[in-house]
Amino acid sequence: MKKETVFTHISRPKAGLGTAVNPDITRASTLLFDRAEDLYRTDIRGYGRHGSAVHDALKDAFNLLEGGAGTSLFPSGLAACTYAILSQVKTGDHVLLTDSSYGPTRYFCDGHLKKMGIETEMYDPRIGADIESVIRPNTSLILMESPGSLTFEVQDIPAIVKAAKAHGVTTIIDNTWSAGLSLNPLKMGVDISCHAATKYFGGHSDTMSGAAISRTDKLAKQVALTAKQIGNACSPDDVYQILRGFRTVMPRFRQQEATSLALATWLNNHPKVMQVLHPAHKSHPDHTIWKRDFTGGGCIFSVVLKPCSEAQVLAFINALNLFGIGYSYGGFESLAIHCDPQLKRSASQLLGGPLVRFACGLEAMEDLKADIDRAFNEIT
Ligand SMILES: *Cc1c(COP(=O)(O)O)cnc(C)c1O
Repeated sequence: MKKETVFTHISRPKAGLGTAVNPDITRASTLLFDRAEDLYRTDIRGYGRHGSAVHDALKDAFNLLEGGAGTSLFPSGLAACTYAILSQVKTGDHVLLTDSSYGPTRYFCDGHLKKMGIETEMYDPRIGADIESVIRPNTSLILMESPGSLTFEVQDIPAIVKAAKAHGVTTIIDNTWSAGLSLNPLKMGVDISCHAATKYFGGHSDTMSGAAISRTDKLAKQVALTAKQIGNACSPDDVYQILRGFRTVMPRFRQQEATSLALATWLNNHPKVMQVLHPAHKSHPDHTIWKRDFTGGGCIFSVVLKPCSEAQVLAFINALNLFGIGYSYGGFESLAIHCDPQLKRSASQLLGGPLVRFACGLEAMEDLKADIDRAFNEIT
């Protein structure tokens, strides 16, 4: 069955006489047992931190999304990435991280991993098969994100996975951009796929959540054990909200990807734009790889403006009425941010102009286009 059908029907209570369509939310710290003999069993849930039926339902949904062997849930997308990383490293290891990674993941590696005696080396997102040349005997992990945050470089995942497997190195990808709806990295041999469920699955900019989906049972157990030992727990209310988002994610995603590609296509010919950075647009330098590996686009992309003053960039963003100024994407509302202060890369190319990122919501494309067009009057 197609994903929209599966997501509509997953984990619904059996119909009875007046049964709700959705599963119940159970709020619990203590779970009670009627026999003392059962208190220390490890095959059943013993405590609130271990989840509930609605947690299991959401894990099932993520496993179905990417064909995973097991999923762990986290209170944020960043936590999904950091716990997945922690599950695969030890003191003395070397970690390879794409230079196009989500900033806070990089800060975690530069900070917390460093404190643990783990070295992180940044690599060019477009390195492809040459990743082999930077793998060391103590490399335990290669971290990918494709397309990259803010700059949207598409990585050659099969080439990187091939080199990683040849050297026994684990691979993790941040798959937030595609929502797992237009890229299936586990099928390409990636070991763990991480999501900021906050984005598309939340869908309404009111819930934080993350998921790490593992390719094998062994990897899933490693992530789950790390999460358990550190004390990870997710609120059943938040988990419910993400499961609710799953029901409608396909049509929302389809509309948002169509809007983003239409806006990117229009902006590509705009006199004040130097370049659009949208993998699904034919002008993108990695469009061929994107076409080979992805079945669709996402809702966010960036534009590189023709050189202009920072004051003009800020005035342009301030003049937008339908795009809120704020982080995140995948919600119902459109957002825009200027990205230059965030771009602290070591191996990236110079872009040649100011970067603005647009996240498309569910507004009509024509209205968003008119809003951007009018705001461009601030740039002379
Ligand atoms: C937003 C985002 C995250 C972090 O998710 P939160 O739920 O906001 O912590 C991680 N990776 C990528 C690519 C993101 O866009």
